Amino acid sequence: MSIMFRKLGILIKSIEKNNIREKVRCASTLPQLSSEKYNIKRKQFSNVESTDVNYFKRILGEERVLTEETDVMPYNIDWIKNCRGQSSVVLKPKSTEEVSNILKYCNERRLAVCPQGGNTGLVGGSVPVFDEIIINFTLMNKVISLDEISGALICESGCILENLDNYVRDRNLIMPLDLGAKGTCQIGGNASTNAGGLRLLRYGNLHGSILGIEAVKADGTVIDCLKALKKDNTGYHLKHLFIGSEGTLGVITKVAVHCPALPKAVTLGFFGVENFENILQLYRSAKTSLGEILSAFEMADFEAINTTVKNLKLPNPIADYPFYVLVETHGSDEGHDSEKLSRFLSKEMDSGLILDGTVTSEPAKIQTIWNLRESIAGAGLVQGYMFKYDVSLPLRNYYDLVPQLRTKLNGRASVVFGYGHVGDGNIHINVIVPEYTKEICSLLEPYIFEEVSKFNGSISAEHGIGFRKPHFIHYSKDPSALQLMKDLKQLMDPNGILNPYKVLPDM
Ligand SMILES: Cc1cc2nc3c(=O)[nH]c(=O)nc-3n(C[C@H](O)[C@H](O)[C@H](O)COP(=O)(O)OP(=O)(O)OC[C@H]3O[C@@H](n4cnc5c(N)ncnc54)[C@H](O)[C@@H]3O)c2cc1C
Repeated sequence: MSIMFRKLGILIKSIEKNNIREKVRCASTLPQLSSEKYNIKRKQFSNVESTDVNYFKRILGEERVLTEETDVMPYNIDWIKNCRGQSSVVLKPKSTEEVSNILKYCNERRLAVCPQGGNTGLVGGSVPVFDEIIINFTLMNKVISLDEISGALICESGCILENLDNYVRDRNLIMPLDLGAKGTCQIGGNASTNAGGLRLLRYGNLHGSILGIEAVKADGTVIDCLKALKKDNTGYHLKHLFIGSEGTLGVITKVAVHCPALPKAVTLGFFGVENFENILQLYRSAKTSLGEILSAFEMADFEAINTTVKNLKLPNPIADYPFYVLVETHGSDEGHDSEKLSRFLSKEMDSGLILDGTVTSEPAKIQTIWNLRESIAGAGLVQGYMFKYDVSLPLRNYYDLVPQLRTKLNGRASVVFGYGHVGDGNIHINVIVPEYTKEICSLLEPYIFEEVSKFNGSISAEHGIGFRKPHFIHYSKDPSALQLMKDLKQLMDPNGILNPYKVLPDM
């Protein structure tokens, strides 16, 4: 057992790079099995036999088929250590052909599979629930081509987002998305979750930025939609079926992404604000004053920043305020952009919307502030168990749920905080408690989803539905839309082997 814990620790350390702090996940107690915690019944799939393992070893080679319990364990546990599956096999294909052979075989044998990228997903979609075979894409990590004129990048699905960003930056381009998990998450995982993140306000979501996809269907058929064109109206836009479907309709093996030009000037402002109403006024003003160069407008409340500063020992460049706003601009003229942002700061300090703030174009200072913002997501993990919600709401009601939850929980939580992408109407609400209990869970769920539904919001703005939310999906999806989703699943994966127990409520 101690070896198992050591291996888990080693894996955690190796995947937690950059701004996701190691210490966040160092507590090494194993989470409860998902099937027990959430009382799930195993579906009628075949069990993995030694003949199956031998087949996989024949097509992949011994070293790319993990079967030792201690080797497999880390792949069974999700990032927030909420879910734990019971898989006994991890497969690490290196090519589309290998993925196709694996799926064809699994489909014929009725063996369920769980596709896994960087395993940074926050809704339990990337780990098995029972003994699903894990298909991990880490070794499919090659850049295939980059057209430096159009910005079209074609790569394999296991490429780590940050590696791609570094690669294209050397060629004066950037990836159109950025998120706190960039050092670990993979472009295939990003596509499968339609990841949003910090630059969505400026560069739009992946349904727009992804130009083409190659994916493998449950029966092993390779679907080649890997065009790198901006415009292609030849019939149904099939790539969209795979974007955001969380590995339930097919497995993504290659992606073509449009990379915008590397901005010559990046300027960042970090401001203290009195109340949420003022944040809304500030956002309105930022859109007018900063216009075409505005690339991010993020907020965090005092509790979010304070928890991160205290738990992770990070510096806060300004004093304590009830709310914080981070504004970033991407432009082509540093002097012009930083002057524009400084003018915005002094105008809004005069108006009282900003209480204090700092504006910088220095890369090291920019990095420090972003690091603080990006670390909020995991900061609560050192304190105990974290319930994480990720919802879209009309901006008027964006922050309403946070004080409502504090009242409802009436001191049962160590801290409740809100932060997120104001520009996209997407707030993350974290509730930190000493440990998971069903009592607290039942106070939060379905209450949060009912409230979101009243405002016609979305119960999942960017993390997806995964394993944690299929039975709540009806709060955001009309029955007719849900039926079409089920029909599509039936068509593309009739045996239901792809990521079962995820996204769709029981069929
Ligand atoms: C610190 C932190 C910050 C985050 N910030 C954001 C944020 O700002 N915005 C945001 O949207 N998300 C955010 N996330 C969530 C997460 O990083 C994203 O959902 C990310 O896109 C997942 O990528 P991944 O490679 O880790 O996928 P995984 O977690 O491995 O998988 C996610 C889902 O995609 C499926 N999948 C993975 N790879 C494939 C593939 N090749 N083919 C088919 N299905 C596949 C899995 O089965 C699973 O259902 C954050 C997470 C952390 C830990």
